[in-house]
Amino acid sequence: MEKNLSKAFEGRFSAPDIAVIQAALDLAYKAHRDQKRKSGEPYITHPIAVAELLYNIGLDAPTIIAGILHDLPEDTHVDINQIQRKFGREVAHLVNGVTKLSSVRLKTKWFGLRGKELEKIPAFERQVNTLRKMFLATSKDIRVVIIKLADRIHNMRTLHFLNPEKQTRIARETLEIYAPLADRLGIGKWKTELENLAFPYVYPNEAKAIEKIVGTNQAKRERDLQRIKEKVYKILVKKQIKPLEIQARVKHGYSLWRKLNRYHNDISKIYDLLGLRVIVENEQQCYAVMSVIHAHFKLLPNRIKDYIATPKPNGYRTLHTTVIGPNNQPVEIQIRSKQMHQEAEKGITAHWYYDEGKKKVSRFKLARKHAIPVPKEQLAWIKELNRWQASVDDPTEFSQSLKFDFFKDRIFIFTPQGDVKELPQDATPIDFAFSVHSQIGYSCVGAKVNGKIVPLNHKLRSGDVVEILTSKKPHTPKRDWLDLAKSRLAKSLIRRSIRNPLDRTK
Ligand code: MN
Repeated sequence: MEKNLSKAFEGRFSAPDIAVIQAALDLAYKAHRDQKRKSGEPYITHPIAVAELLYNIGLDAPTIIAGILHDLPEDTHVDINQIQRKFGREVAHLVNGVTKLSSVRLKTKWFGLRGKELEKIPAFERQVNTLRKMFLATSKDIRVVIIKLADRIHNMRTLHFLNPEKQTRIARETLEIYAPLADRLGIGKWKTELENLAFPYVYPNEAKAIEKIVGTNQAKRERDLQRIKEKVYKILVKKQIKPLEIQARVKHGYSLWRKLNRYHNDISKIYDLLGLRVIVENEQQCYAVMSVIHAHFKLLPNRIKDYIATPKPNGYRTLHTTVIGPNNQPVEIQIRSKQMHQEAEKGITAHWYYDEGKKKVSRFKLARKHAIPVPKEQLAWIKELNRWQASVDDPTEFSQSLKFDFFKDRIFIFTPQGDVKELPQDATPIDFAFSVHSQIGYSCVGAKVNGKIVPLNHKLRSGDVVEILTSKKPHTPKRDWLDLAKSRLAKSLIRRSIRNPLDRTK
């Protein structure tokens, strides 16, 4: 992306929108002028890379502008009010969302542990789940999540310039929180890049081992793959089906490692080590290609998957089948239309600006007038996200907007050590104390929120760091704690101890 954007964005955005994007870029240049990235490059290279990623998966002008401005409030003298005055509420709301997300962090205490050990700890899994929820609850708008994902991709691409401690934390977070979110959103391209960038930092030995496995016989595998690709092309053309594209790939990196894990490191059990992807014009042709392939190759039994008839929860649609290729090697063949291909790479964003070319009105005004509609059939993944939350609202409620509010009744509170707890809206330090441990609840005498002493009826806000002050001995809570507590857990523990006062003789 160049400093002067008019050329780059012509055809995609209206002239007024390009002017606003240019203004955002000028402001970011000025504000970041004296800052450098750890790589030594001017800081502006980062927001520009983020905006470029957003542009490439087809996002709207406000999102691209927010991508350009996303680090201003935290790193420069330009604050959110200035951004709102200059670029309007929508952009300010997006930038603000991204800024708030910087509090969603994995706790340092987990980093000392090696990759595999960590996975076996249930408390770690719970932390990660709560952080994923907090991530969504904090962002409130899908576009905020997507900007943050783009931000993370560029930070991962330049991760080798940071110190080892930061590398491990950021890479682990990427693997546990960011890549799964990209997957939920169906953005396959970003998910794969995030995983493969993080893999060597989180699992250095395993990553080296995988490289070795892939490296052996690599040239031969690629030759075999090329041969079968040519053969598939030939038999399809003979049947009057001209594929738009056939892609060939050898499975590698993080996804290969995960799979090998499941098959006790037996590479002969990996049926999709070699893969072909046939992209055709429409759905009908997908099935035609499948039947031609089945007529010409020996098949591996039970490997046919019709994700067109039954899409995956994140919206993924494609036909899969596995054939026996040269030298008796299995080759997985994926067949999809170009529309399905767009969706698999770009996920939900593939649908937002589909008719961009037709209407070159200002997206900006359009977006402000009506929240950009998300097609109903694309809501599968939102419903999927919903399952993360036990008690959810009707998912059709937010079908007309990009905003999601199914976490609106929840807040997320940190311990001084950085553990995150999920609590109901309006929760007080008493709820938090009991969520840490019942004994902390029973010995609670006061609380500090973000370093300041507060009364016990203080309403906590998402992102607060709360420290509970305790007495040496547990005591029976007063009856009025029942009114202060909002969570079911705290209420029931308080009730129990009022019924059976704590025995202090022990
Ligand atoms: Mn950033």
